[in-house]
Amino acid sequence: MLTTADALERILAKTPQLPTSEVALDAGLGRFLAQPMQAHLSLPRFDQSSMDGYAVAEDGCGKRAEGSCLRVISEIAAGTEAKVPVSAGQAVRVFTGAPVPQGTAAVLMQEDVTAHPDSTITVNIAAEPGEFIRRAGADVSAGQRLAESGQRITPALLAILATQGWAKIVVGGVPQVGILSTGDELVSPGHPLPSAASIYNSNGPMLQALVKSAGGDCVRVEHGRDDLAALTDSLRSLSDQCDIIIVSGGVSVGDHDHVRPAMEQAGFEMDFWKVRMKPGKPLAFGVDPVHGRVAFGLPGNPVSAFVTFWLFVFPALRKMMGASGADLSLPAVNVRAATTIDNKGDRAHWFRGRVSGAHFEPLGLQESHALFSLSKANALVCVEPETTVSEGAAVDAWLLP
Ligand code: AMP
Ligand code: MG
Repeated sequence: MLTTADALERILAKTPQLPTSEVALDAGLGRFLAQPMQAHLSLPRFDQSSMDGYAVAEDGCGKRAEGSCLRVISEIAAGTEAKVPVSAGQAVRVFTGAPVPQGTAAVLMQEDVTAHPDSTITVNIAAEPGEFIRRAGADVSAGQRLAESGQRITPALLAILATQGWAKIVVGGVPQVGILSTGDELVSPGHPLPSAASIYNSNGPMLQALVKSAGGDCVRVEHGRDDLAALTDSLRSLSDQCDIIIVSGGVSVGDHDHVRPAMEQAGFEMDFWKVRMKPGKPLAFGVDPVHGRVAFGLPGNPVSAFVTFWLFVFPALRKMMGASGADLSLPAVNVRAATTIDNKGDRAHWFRGRVSGAHFEPLGLQESHALFSLSKANALVCVEPETTVSEGAAVDAWLLP
């Protein structure tokens, strides 16, 4: 049976990157840059005031300037060019973000001077030389690398791209995702339960939300009966429209588990089935070699579907989008186990629980059907087979968004 790491390696090797496209800057949020970006403007663009106050020459700043009187010769607001230099005995009224005139040695805060009606000021508290001037290029210099290919477009990255005047950017694609929940027992929320053996479909809404949070676009969300021909038809139809198909349920060894043969009949080659993990063992992964589409058969137990989504589907979605490095997986933090965590089994066991402060504590029932404890969890921790993590020992906790 494959280890988690081997399974992930195989998935990433078979998952293609989607074609890139040029989009409006604001439409890039949450997507991934498809090319490195080089600054052509310095930040700040010019020497500017960081305060509302007065630009002064060397004689107007430093301790010995306190008590002196300076003549205010002009005013520069943000957006106005500084045309006249400031000289000894003079001050220029400036505002935050305004260019400072030539000859400026410092800016005095307006709170630190007394302004007189005859256009003079008295320096009460002098700024140090260089104070309250933002120097051109102090943040970014023209020519500097601003962002890398594969970097996620966050609001702050979007802002720095905007400083360069760019209204369009080239980004990776958005995966078109199809979700197929299988099971004759399933009923969509909002409908009455027809029999005492019916349950509501919770994987469908969960997977839809997970895909959305990863940055994918759920273009089809469907329910399939436990019937080979019907599932094959559904998968064929989904694969016409989707880059990734996520099936839940029907991948185990039961008489009503038809998903793997249905995938094959719909044109997917099965790359692997089963991973040495708990929950999530019956995970199946298939590839359509003609069109480069991929299909995941996630176990139907809700926690298994959840954990295998984060460990395997999320990285595949992100690779398709052009992500790299840390954006291919959940963020992890190193914390300490709040209690002893025991894995007597022969598969890696993913525990759900809570990270609070510097500790991780497993939460509630840990079986694969037990969704309630998952709904309270904020992290997953993996304990290797036949391993006991003692209270206080270091563990990597994968933080759930
Ligand atoms: P399966 O993988 O189809 O054998 O399903 C394993 C368990 O998960 C069974 O108890 C199913 O009823 C349950 N299950 C399967 N699919 C879903 C779903 N979409 N929502 C909630 N529970 C499910
Ligand atoms: Mg089933």
